[in-house]
Amino acid sequence: MRITLEEATSLIRARLSPLAPVLLPLFDALGCITAESVKAQMDQPPFPRSPYDGYALRATDSGGASRENPISLLVIGQSFAGKPAEQTVGKGEAVRIMTGGVIPEGADCVIPQELTDEGEQTVKIYKALKPFENYCRQGEDFQKDTEIVPCGITVTAAVAGVAASAGCTELWVFPKPRVAVLSTGDELQILGLPLEKGQIYSSNSPYLAGRLDELHLPISQITHVQDEISELVSAFRTANEVSDIIICTGGVSAGQKDLVPDALKRLGAEMIFHGVEMKPGMPAALAILNGKPVVALSGNPFACAVTFDLLARPALAVLASNPLIEARRFKATLSDGFPKARNVRRYVHGLLSEGTVSVAGEQGSGQLRTMIGSNCLAELPKGNEPLPVGTFVNVYMLEGSIYGG
Ligand code: AMP
Ligand code: MG
Repeated sequence: MRITLEEATSLIRARLSPLAPVLLPLFDALGCITAESVKAQMDQPPFPRSPYDGYALRATDSGGASRENPISLLVIGQSFAGKPAEQTVGKGEAVRIMTGGVIPEGADCVIPQELTDEGEQTVKIYKALKPFENYCRQGEDFQKDTEIVPCGITVTAAVAGVAASAGCTELWVFPKPRVAVLSTGDELQILGLPLEKGQIYSSNSPYLAGRLDELHLPISQITHVQDEISELVSAFRTANEVSDIIICTGGVSAGQKDLVPDALKRLGAEMIFHGVEMKPGMPAALAILNGKPVVALSGNPFACAVTFDLLARPALAVLASNPLIEARRFKATLSDGFPKARNVRRYVHGLLSEGTVSVAGEQGSGQLRTMIGSNCLAELPKGNEPLPVGTFVNVYMLEGSIYGG
């Protein structure tokens, strides 16, 4: 029995669960969702430091200094980044300091070298300073025990940088699902080999590999399988072992060679749904095999593309605990009319720009080429009437897409 897309996505959310959190090295955690908040183990910066190249001194010693009436201080040492001074700055003294250097004991400000004669034994300073002027306090960025990274956010470059500055080497995150891509069909020939009569090259495998790459999700394997029940059974078994989710294409419809549902049944998989009220992509199915999802999509390249974005992405989002993996939805107006042919909700590739979506011409289920230059899917409502210019429709963004989304 067919269900609506909304029912299908509700079932995906109800029946799938996020992968268990793992502790990953910081670099491997990039793009994952944090499963725990992170508290700073230390102040950052861990010491008071200089924001300039100059001299560290006591503000009281600079009182009244100007270019006309410089004050001379004795330079007693130097503090470079990573090479702190040992001396304590006393009355009438200064320490040569560089950006990032520890402000030495006794000093409470830094004069930039441009406001001095840059002397080495003694230095003339040309300006009076206030206490803590040009002084980065210890813990200025964050203090020990502050929550620096909340739970449930993406490990972005900024998160990685902040965590690293706090000395954090590993993060508890929801891992990204490892995806097995399985294309089924006797007609599929391996790319690079000549086509026999009746054969085609699989465009679904590189398409799905490309989309997964654009979404920064790891691929555990890409396999072609013949329409043979025993081969399908063994391919599903292997893919199930090496991945967290299988996305397969082809063989899921009602034809004599559509053996994917049978193969899954033989393995004891639970079929959650089979058939969604949408065009293209109607035969799509979701099964659970040994606790892991199998998203089975029609082999039609256009159907495969549409259902990847509308059904596989929500499943990937649940596993990764990352709603951002789902396609973002907006409202837009159609820039051209569309001749509606079927009494079923339809999805077409389009180009969204400033609230208007223009829909590419020919979009039959096997026609992949119209996807080039698109950045979204437009949802054309159920009905037999043609859609006039300016009709409000939902659009789903193909983020991260090489098509410009
Ligand atoms: P199926 O879903 O197996 O009934 O296939 C539907 C249509 O998509 C048929 O015309 C297939 O030849 C085609 N097709 C199936 N798998 C692929 C694939 N991986 N790449 C390109 N076309 C495919
Ligand atoms: Mg087939």
